[in-house]
Amino acid sequence: MKTIIISKVVETSRVKKSAQPINALIVVDVQNCFINGNLSLSKSPAGQDGAEVIPIINNLIRTIPFDVIVYTQDWHPWNHISFFENLHFRRQYLAGDQNQTIKMFDKVTYLGPKYKMEQVLWPTHCIQETEDAALHKDLDVISSSSRVIHIRKGIDPDIDSYSAFADNYGVRKTELHDKLKERNVTQVFIAGLATDYCVTSTALDAFDLNYITYVVKDASRGVTLSTIKSQLKKLKQHGVHIITKNSVDLIGDILS
Ligand SMILES: [Zn+2]
Repeated sequence: MKTIIISKVVETSRVKKSAQPINALIVVDVQNCFINGNLSLSKSPAGQDGAEVIPIINNLIRTIPFDVIVYTQDWHPWNHISFFENLHFRRQYLAGDQNQTIKMFDKVTYLGPKYKMEQVLWPTHCIQETEDAALHKDLDVISSSSRVIHIRKGIDPDIDSYSAFADNYGVRKTELHDKLKERNVTQVFIAGLATDYCVTSTALDAFDLNYITYVVKDASRGVTLSTIKSQLKKLKQHGVHIITKNSVDLIGDILS
């Protein structure tokens, strides 16, 4: 098994704990819905094109010998709590005036049915088994092997899940942490969609689970410029390394 030797750009006290890191690339939600489907990033305020991450991520997969590659998918049932169109199912759980006018992309507070939580109301997206939820056809998806992990999230109708590790309430864990531990992964490189939501949440959880965590900024695209900026700042303050694709290349170069 090849491992990536740490370059100067990533030397920190946390890194030094492991002389021979085991590296995973986590490809977050590179799905049709966020690229040209129901929740296309190009129609969101930042106007970014999610498709732009595909050649960058493909290049990382082809040129860097990651020990593990993870592909995540938003994978919702039709009655999911995050869909604006399903608001009428849960109006009785809204905090405040239940007859208030609520628009798509508004953030509401639900007092139930399971937990009190804030929820952004997205258009219906990534419904299980639909073309909208499929990984984009141009993404290099390595065929199944012990190197490859597929994670589907947001399956519970009543709670959203931005992170690939756990739902937004931290209650239901996915199998990702166990699968990374089985493979002795020590470092994760996170890229994909969307920077300010699922990439950020996945990175925060990865760091808190003691992985040395990198977000590959230019291999990710987001929803809103202001939150992309604030979330990257938050990640950095938390201890996540924000790097560019060229930094990963540089780490890879040391191998050859
Ligand atoms: Zn979703």
